[in-house]
Amino acid sequence: MVPSAEILPPRVGDPGFADRARRLFAGESRFIAGASSPAALPPEGLPELAFVGRSNVGKSSLVNTLTGRRMLARISHTPGRTRQINFFDLSGRLILVDLPGYGYAEAPKSAVKNWTSLVRHYLQTRAVLRRVCLLIDSRHGIKDVDRPLMGMLDAVGVSYQVVLTKTDKASKGELAAIPEKILSELREHVAAHPEILLTSVVDRRGISELREGLAEFALQFEQTR
Ligand code: GDP
Repeated sequence: MVPSAEILPPRVGDPGFADRARRLFAGESRFIAGASSPAALPPEGLPELAFVGRSNVGKSSLVNTLTGRRMLARISHTPGRTRQINFFDLSGRLILVDLPGYGYAEAPKSAVKNWTSLVRHYLQTRAVLRRVCLLIDSRHGIKDVDRPLMGMLDAVGVSYQVVLTKTDKASKGELAAIPEKILSELREHVAAHPEILLTSVVDRRGISELREGLAEFALQFEQTR
């Protein structure tokens, strides 16, 4: 299948754009809001890029590495904030959105229900949401706990991209088999981006590519203003 221009990050590989993307992510990042209910969501403005995955998948580490900050992990892991949607302004040009992790074995049913309704509300109503990065551990692939969210993203029609984490810990065999398996599952999901990105915060694999893909959304927005 020939991928359409829409799904290819057009500037990946352009050294000038790579540098602009790096500078965007090196700019100031600021915590702007934490919402634990729909009423507490901040007003919509800049384009939003959301990160989601099961707890411990490496979400905070990845967002911190993208921005070169430890602040995001500290805030998102603060007791009381782990169940919130946390919003970070990046250089006044993009909003990074940290959706609460899911899949805690010991989570009470009421917490799962709250998570589901808050996240569904956010995904359904947020016009400025441009892309969701769905983080999956490269050693384990898609798990049953991930599938309800994938179904939700398909149902609300929000474009999402699978980003594999912790590839430095995956064996050669896992890296040979798991991405292929995920790609074939993604073909069944209408809202899934048909490419996956392999990342590691340890050897920094895929970090600049992810920055470039995401910076594209800031640029598109600024070109239409
Ligand atoms: P979160 O719960 O999804 O925010 O996960 P964290 O970012 O807190 O990461 C969970 C654990 O995985 C921590 O011990 C991290 O140091 C570790 N981790 C995260 N990303 C990587 C990675 O790329 N490589 C390795 N080896 N460990 C990672």
